[in-house]
Amino acid sequence: MMHPEQALKELVEGNNRFLQETSIQSAQTSLRKLKKLAVTGQLPKAIVLCCSDSRAPVEIIFDQDIGDLFVIRVAGNIIAPSLAGSIEFASSAFGTRLVLVMGHTKCGAIKATLDHLESSRKITSENINSIVQRIEPHISSIAERNDLSDEEKWEQAVEANARASVEQLSRFSPFIESRVQQGIIKIIGSVLDLSTGRVNLLA
Ligand SMILES: [Zn+2]
Repeated sequence: MMHPEQALKELVEGNNRFLQETSIQSAQTSLRKLKKLAVTGQLPKAIVLCCSDSRAPVEIIFDQDIGDLFVIRVAGNIIAPSLAGSIEFASSAFGTRLVLVMGHTKCGAIKATLDHLESSRKITSENINSIVQRIEPHISSIAERNDLSDEEKWEQAVEANARASVEQLSRFSPFIESRVQQGIIKIIGSVLDLSTGRVNLLA
């Protein structure tokens, strides 16, 4: 399986092609590739956990083709059992070694959580609440700050949530923790800037 550093390099190069409008993908070859992979099976080079926001389509942003990425999308790119389970599945079934957690600017799930923290308005949907509850501890200290504008809080909370998701995922299960410690899996955080299309890796 592809080394995580190589996979990350290919994602960065793909994002650069997207930014320069020099995509190497084509609908015709994608269909041929799909038909081939239907027979041979998949070997995705990276697992990507990102938000469901319609402005964050992972394959397009990274200029990747069918079969390249195992993508898990959930509002607010939160970590919860079924999402961690999807990552464990891809890691064990395909040997994929790079896990990229990608947040994005202007994230509605983050804004909803900030609003909830600041107004203590009750969220009536239990299901939406289950997402907000997972984001809350990652950004509550930012919500409390008086020296930041609402826009600054939103931007910082997006990054803090992506970083916290990486930390949380690294220790979420004995399976993931041991693979991270052995260097089999590498988990990297990132934020997609919707205003530019650039994915910034979090050091
Ligand atoms: Zn979002």
